[in-house]
Amino acid sequence: MKIKSAEFEISAVRPGQWPDDGLPEFAFVGRSNVGKSSLLNRLLGRKSLARVSQKPGKTQQINFFRINEQFRFADLPGYGYAAVSKADRARFAKMMETYLTSREPLVRVFQLVDIRHPPMPMDIEVNEWMRRNGLAVTVVATKLDKVGKSHQAKAVRLIRTEMNKPESIRPVSSEKGQGIDELWSEIETLVAT
Ligand code: GDP
Repeated sequence: MKIKSAEFEISAVRPGQWPDDGLPEFAFVGRSNVGKSSLLNRLLGRKSLARVSQKPGKTQQINFFRINEQFRFADLPGYGYAAVSKADRARFAKMMETYLTSREPLVRVFQLVDIRHPPMPMDIEVNEWMRRNGLAVTVVATKLDKVGKSHQAKAVRLIRTEMNKPESIRPVSSEKGQGIDELWSEIETLVAT
């Protein structure tokens, strides 16, 4: 995919602020620190379009990016950050739920998990919830460069079993670039259909 333009559009809190031109949209979800900003920056070939590691859990908005005037990425806030209050967590869950169940142009959700560890209960819960709600989900296993070659297949198998056999799992490294072209191919295909 050739990125001709990638623009940050808005940090939205309320549905009324979401872009409404109907461009096909891809959402990125995952625990804080899973590598979501790094992946977005890598995909878009920008160093800091999506900010890397500002205070985890602090961003409670959905960030929208318009790409090639053709489709859009929605960067959802990282979930499962322990230091936010119960009220914040509830507000966050509600926002995520509202977005995921009502966003019409949403084509697919990319749920990020860290390939180095078995998925956390929260990852499994969110995955189950999305599938129950009929969402199309690709699990993206991040930080591939951090596991040795001989452990990669095993790590992917563990994620597959723990997450109850998701439709697809894509190992990627934002640092080294593995899996990025494949992820773009998936997005391109979905934009074209
Ligand atoms: P976010 O909170 O999900 O947006 O995560 P960040 O993108 O800020 O990444 C969290 C940490 O993981 C940072 O220190 C990144 O440099 C690191 N990281 C993210 N992706 C990769 C990767 O593919 N490989 C390696 N080695 N580190 C990564």
